Amino acid sequence: MSATAAHQPGRPLVLRDGLVLTMDDSHTILRDADVLIIGERIEAVGPALEVPDGTVEVDASGGIVMPGMIDTHRHLWQTAMRGYGADWTLTQYFVWYYLEWGKRFRPQDVYAGNLLGAIEALDAGVTTTVDWSHGLQTIDHAEAAVDALEAVPGRFVLAYGNIQQGPWEWATSPEFRDFVTRRVRGRLGFQLAFDVTGDPAFPERAAFEAARELGVPVTTHAGVWGATNDDGIRLMHENGFMTPESVYVHAATLSQDSYHRIAATGGSVSVSTESEQSAGQGYPPTWQLRKHGIPVSLSMDTSVWWSGDLFSAMRATLGADRSREHLEAHGRQETITHCHLRAEEVVDWATRGGSRALGLDASIGSLEPGKKADVVLLKNDHSPVMFPILNPYGHVAFQAQRADVHTVVVNGRVVKADHRLVGVDLPAARQAVESTVGYLMEQLGDSWATGMNPDIPETKIMDNPYMYTEWRGQKGSEDRS
Ligand SMILES: [Zn+2]
Repeated sequence: MSATAAHQPGRPLVLRDGLVLTMDDSHTILRDADVLIIGERIEAVGPALEVPDGTVEVDASGGIVMPGMIDTHRHLWQTAMRGYGADWTLTQYFVWYYLEWGKRFRPQDVYAGNLLGAIEALDAGVTTTVDWSHGLQTIDHAEAAVDALEAVPGRFVLAYGNIQQGPWEWATSPEFRDFVTRRVRGRLGFQLAFDVTGDPAFPERAAFEAARELGVPVTTHAGVWGATNDDGIRLMHENGFMTPESVYVHAATLSQDSYHRIAATGGSVSVSTESEQSAGQGYPPTWQLRKHGIPVSLSMDTSVWWSGDLFSAMRATLGADRSREHLEAHGRQETITHCHLRAEEVVDWATRGGSRALGLDASIGSLEPGKKADVVLLKNDHSPVMFPILNPYGHVAFQAQRADVHTVVVNGRVVKADHRLVGVDLPAARQAVESTVGYLMEQLGDSWATGMNPDIPETKIMDNPYMYTEWRGQKGSEDRS
């Protein structure tokens, strides 16, 4: 029986004999244990489970069973431009999307990016993704974004945004209200996504009030060097809009005062370490957030630079946090002998951190009976990197990767089996993205190549007194070239 045929919806499923990272409150680890899924939920977790007749069995031996990962900030629409901005800074990103080319994206282009990004998430074991969708310049764009999310059997939160208008404009329009009523249904979660510029007039108030009326959280790029700063946090706080549901993305360039305000109001930070490191929002802030006890979730931001798997987020976040801890100590002529941030904690951030940030912790984020069955099996018998598994959290954070994602279950439905996506139309995504890329190349013309290959600033190699360069500085040296 093929893997696809084996996983008929409605049949119970058991993952047998795996190393189970439950990510429950005690972070219980079970070796040689099973996870039984019946319907949409986890029925039982434990050794040698008895299962109903007709249960589909997946051999998880040699693998790690963990909760589906949760990405709290992805601009899925940008996936159609995968890798294009690999050498960008944040300034180049803003110019390209916000000022020059973002408006050229048609609804079908948002659809294409969303479709590919949503499929990519499942492939990587990311079962819940917040689509930080700030390219929704018309309701038709928003319809297209949701059409794509509905075509992919993952769990998604639409964070509705529109960089071409002020949030006080789009969030208060009747068309927007109508869209929310019609399209936000079923498993689709909803947030409002906009940034607070720090304008003392606080025009964003109307958008916060719209979110409050709808009873949905706000997610906001906060503490982004050159874009948003402490003024935005202060305005949110003074006007009573910082709540436990608020998600602050990056929060990398903020004062201690702002971190105090976030901590005191119970919000959480979505850290996109790879993004903060390359684009320049500020130093990845977990080393600060830890000091304030601010809850953390992880995110990949955008595939215009990076791919959408949280293994790289966990890895980069451990590296950045430890790097900073060592560097700060060296500045004091001290040596760090014990790292504060552990692999266990970043695995928690990639699972429970996300479920808590999204207010979904009662239903997802851990492998416990009664929770929704969002489950990932990491197993790859053909890989020299999947044994020995000695430190399970370390293995997830530093050793495993996308190709090791063997089985993925969302809401009890198998969406990846034996390393292959199930019930997902990848050719349709390929076709949609090819069409978008063709359209954008035509629209941009010569700007296509220059946009992808920004100028490199002049670099001066320092004079080196040890270099054997007897010709250097001598008259006529240019003649030798
Ligand atoms: Zn972002």
